[in-house]
Amino acid sequence: MYDALVVGAGLSGLVMVERLCTQLGWRCLLVDRREHLGGNCYDAPDQNGVLTHIYGPHYFRTDSPELVHYLSRFTAWHKTRYTVRSFTEGKYWSFPVNLRTFEQLLGRESCQDEFRRWLDEHRVPIADPKNSEEMMLASVGEELYEKFFKGYTKKQWCKEPRDLHPSVCGRIPIRTTRDDSYVDESFQALPADGYTAMFQRMVDTCGDNLEIRLGVDFREVKDTTAFGHLIYTGPIDEYFHACHGRLEYRSLRFEVESFSSRSLAQQGKSGVWQPYLQVNYPNSGQYTRAVEIKHATNQETPHTNVVREYPQEYTQDNDPYYPVPTDRNLMLYKKYAAMAEIQKGVTFLGRLATYAYLNMDQAVAQALRTFDAKFASCTKRRHPGLA
Ligand code: FAD
Ligand code: UDP
Repeated sequence: MYDALVVGAGLSGLVMVERLCTQLGWRCLLVDRREHLGGNCYDAPDQNGVLTHIYGPHYFRTDSPELVHYLSRFTAWHKTRYTVRSFTEGKYWSFPVNLRTFEQLLGRESCQDEFRRWLDEHRVPIADPKNSEEMMLASVGEELYEKFFKGYTKKQWCKEPRDLHPSVCGRIPIRTTRDDSYVDESFQALPADGYTAMFQRMVDTCGDNLEIRLGVDFREVKDTTAFGHLIYTGPIDEYFHACHGRLEYRSLRFEVESFSSRSLAQQGKSGVWQPYLQVNYPNSGQYTRAVEIKHATNQETPHTNVVREYPQEYTQDNDPYYPVPTDRNLMLYKKYAAMAEIQKGVTFLGRLATYAYLNMDQAVAQALRTFDAKFASCTKRRHPGLA
């Protein structure tokens, strides 16, 4: 008999399991249908020992000192900056759009005032953008929308930007300063030894109270395991057997190209393969971006690798990476959320079960909030690690 069965060993499931085991002394069973901890944040060395973000780049960032404090129990940090370029019309553009991008457009130096005036003239006056196309037209105008957003968004989602919620393209900052960081948050850092090492420490703190079964689907254990409470972080429609119809998810195929120091040298390169951490390809090729994570980890190794992301349809044979925020999906999700609301003894958590485009810090915050609101006052059991 377990106090809780936790489905999904991604960030959401791990934070919850850590809280339940160490704060309440609950005995938990954690299952994941993948063979590793960490869900999409999982990282591992490639054949040359280069630490690789297996499911695409995971740039940790947050404005919350509380979250940093919580995670710092399990990791030290490597402070870094996430810098990206957008490759189109044969050159690398400073991205996200900032004063440097504008200067590249003009072919000369400029200043904030001139860029602000230019934006005022070029922005399409849309007071309340209803979708991602309107969002970007209202923020940067047609020329920059066409150059950087339209093609990328169509490739990533296989949808017109006008069919996606404004928050999709609205994630990307627009600045009139020369700050070219990809994200706005004040704390930008990676776990010093990688995400997987951080997750291992999280589960280690749970001691004997935690049993982990990897490569095991919820469906395999749900009828044969006795448990008090269920924490579910898988796709919410799957839990309810898609009784109202399937929610859409977007999947990706990741292609890793590894370069040994020798193969780099043969190409006249040393240490790194591309000049930037991340290059976005809005208007060419089948992939959206190419990421050389070594620029951010600063790992001391003469080898490197580049991971390219090819968007693809979600099927039975791949993984659901993104909820797809269209009107249809958001309406459908509400029906499942209403069912979830009245499920007794089940907590739905994380990016798939709350159908929300959550960054890592948001996923951790959601899990901690849920623990505090729902479980913190539950009965404690005897546990050597209990405070
Ligand atoms: P997940 O990581 O999806 O974990 C859910 C787990 O549940 C999975 O391991 C899955 O196998 C398991 N599961 C599902 N159903 C079942 C079942 N029936 N039985 C057993 N197990 C099941 N965030 C950032 O902050 N910065 C970034 O730079 C960033 N980059 C990203 C890049 C990509 C390509 C993607 C896809 C996401 C990115 N994110 C980033 C978001 C980040 O991955 C999420 O915030 C985080 O992974 C959410 O964790 P989760 O546990 O909710 O979901
Ligand atoms: N986007 C774009 N051009 C870019 C980068 C992003 O149009 O060069 C849009 C696209 O719709 C993408 C969304 O902004 O899906 C969010 O981008 P982000 O890089 O935050 O995506 P994630 O890291 O979540 O995959």
